[in-house]
Parts: sequence; structure tokens; C-alpha cells
Amino acid sequence: MGKLKLCVLHCTATPPSVQVTPEKIRQWHQGPLDLFDQNHNLTGVLYKGKTYPNRRELPKEEIGGVSIDLLKGRGWRQVGYSILIDNHAKRHELVKVDDDQWIDSWEITNGVAGINSISMHVVTAGGVDADGHAEDNRTPEQVEKLKEVMFEILEKHPQIQFAGHNQFSPKACPSYNVPRFCREIGVPERNIHQK
Ligand SMILES: [Zn+2]
Repeated sequence: MGKLKLCVLHCTATPPSVQVTPEKIRQWHQGPLDLFDQNHNLTGVLYKGKTYPNRRELPKEEIGGVSIDLLKGRGWRQVGYSILIDNHAKRHELVKVDDDQWIDSWEITNGVAGINSISMHVVTAGGVDADGHAEDNRTPEQVEKLKEVMFEILEKHPQIQFAGHNQFSPKACPSYNVPRFCREIGVPERNIHQK
């Protein structure tokens, strides 16, 4: 259990033509992951933190109406994002974050390895062009909704700092400069993660 210190912003790294739903994110993150050795032989299938010998041994479960044995995901116990802003700027709560400042274990998401126990993660649908290249293609409506969500979080957690995924990993995500965006929308300097 850790104190909530960071709100990390992400994109789904999908082109705007892909309609992102909470079910889709659950399929991507919680769907089973095939594990291979260095000779590319299947060594097991990771699902909800447990390793099964093969896909036939997986429990008979569905995610978003699809049988899990058909899904190729990351095998995580929990989705990596707390809040999704979808293509139509609609907000979805994927993981409940309590209003108090303490993160309980069930709230720990998987967005950024190493800092998850002190972070919450907000993702906006989009972030790449049709060829898969990083592009800030947030619509004005998505930007407006993101701003609203960020200021709501700021009100509940006055000590929080906003950061981009790319401030912790060599990735383009979220395809825009988060400290610059924060300054543009008037987030106080003390609430902007500097790096
Ligand atoms: Zn990310």
C-alpha cells in the first residue's frame, strides 16, 4: 500500500478508427499471455497472475463476451488504467480509486512497471496514425474531457503530480508532452512531474 503520488497519462496507441471500450482494454490487459522459452517453445500460459500448462487448461471464462482461450493479452490480474477517455470523449472508470489518498492493493494497476503502487493511470483512446506512428490526434472533446478529469483528480489529491508514460519509459506514449500540456491548461507547477 502506498500513497498516491502520480497520475500517469497514456494513449491506447491505436488509430482513431479503432473504437476503444473498457471491454477491449480488459481483453488486451487481462487476456492470457503465451510464454515461450528462447527456442520459441510454449512453456505456459499466464492468466490473472497464474501460469497454466497450455490454453486447454485455462478456466472457462469470458472477457467482454469472448472466451479467454481466444484472447492474446498480457495475462495481468488487473487492467493497467484507472480511467479511459474513449474516442467519443466519454469517461469510463476501469478501476475504482478511493477518494482517500491511500492506494489499496486492489487499486494497483499495471500501467508503468516500478511505480504502480503510488500511481493511477488515465488513458485517452488514440495516439497513433493509421500507420501506427505516434501522433497527437486527441479531439478537442477528448482534450476537454481529459482536462476535466485531471482537475477533478487534482481537487481530490492536491499533492498529486501529472506525468506522461514517456517520462518513465523509452516510449512515445501518450504522444504529447505532458508537462507542456499541463502548463497550457493551468495545472500548478508543483503538480507537474519534472524530468
Ligand atoms: Zn502508456
